[in-house]
Amino acid sequence: MKSVPWRITIDTNPDQCNLKCIMCDTHSTYNRNRIKRQRMSPELLEGILREAIVVGVEEIIPSTMGEPLLYPYFDTFIDALTPSSTRLNLTTNGTFPVKGAKTWARLLLPITSDTKISINGISPAINEKIMNQSRTEDVLKNIETYLRIRDEVRQEKINHRPTVTLQVTFMYRNLTGIGEVIEYAIEHNIDRVKGHHLWVTHPELEKEDLRNPIHNGVWNDFISKIEPYKKRIKLENFTALSEVESVPERYNCPFLGKELWIDCSGNYNVCCAPSDKRQALGDFGRFDNVKIGDFFQMKNYRTLVENYKSQPLCRKCLLRKPE
Ligand code: SF4
Ligand code: SF4
Repeated sequence: MKSVPWRITIDTNPDQCNLKCIMCDTHSTYNRNRIKRQRMSPELLEGILREAIVVGVEEIIPSTMGEPLLYPYFDTFIDALTPSSTRLNLTTNGTFPVKGAKTWARLLLPITSDTKISINGISPAINEKIMNQSRTEDVLKNIETYLRIRDEVRQEKINHRPTVTLQVTFMYRNLTGIGEVIEYAIEHNIDRVKGHHLWVTHPELEKEDLRNPIHNGVWNDFISKIEPYKKRIKLENFTALSEVESVPERYNCPFLGKELWIDCSGNYNVCCAPSDKRQALGDFGRFDNVKIGDFFQMKNYRTLVENYKSQPLCRKCLLRKPE
């Protein structure tokens, strides 16, 4: 276990997004119990970034809930990280709001390690049934602008190789569209395609979950069909589901003892499981009473690291991976 997190995710503006993706735990139209959360204050963000840089955190992820580029104090990230060696690892919905793709690319790519752009199909008919209010054609143009500037930045800064990833959510509804995302990525020299199975945060999504027995074998058939692509592009989490047990005991949590999350009010969280489920793992304090550099030494955190495989949430968690 590391003594400090190598990466921190900071949920600056979880309630702000310009889309309504069906699988979103906050913005989906299926979410009928929306709790209003505030935005993180720029002063709190500045304090977190200052401390993170001092203790040697390598990467910062701005809000993975909500669209980070809508956070009105986003310049705080750029100002703090530019003079440091800590990199930004961004996940965005590809709309590049407010400033547009070209301006954002020029600001972000010099300080990013990776930019993950969420897309769930290249055909508007597939993508827009999932990412409601997205305009797929505009997103594809934005991706191409962003890639052009990625290549310029790589030439200008010889020791800096920012990467671009397309990110998909594996669902029954877009299973026929994931192949076209991979082909698009290969054709456009995108660095990687990453995906993850759905968290069933609303009952309407149960039928979309490819682990649901009603879809028996469909996912594993898909995985065997895309095998040839793996020689042409890095595909992350495109692995067959075990038919014996949902998560083998030997699989480990990729986050405990490595990464840390801080919500918009400054509360610490241990992983990215949906907030209502994650609370079962315990209360881990706040930024204003526990220093980032001390977090991994806290007694209740160390107990969780030792015992998480017996937690009901972790026993079923598909984020666990073989070491
Ligand atoms: S882009 Fe992200 S935050 Fe916005 S609705 Fe979709 S999943 Fe939710
Ligand atoms: S639910 Fe448990 S196993 Fe899954 S990411 Fe969170 S801490 Fe790790």
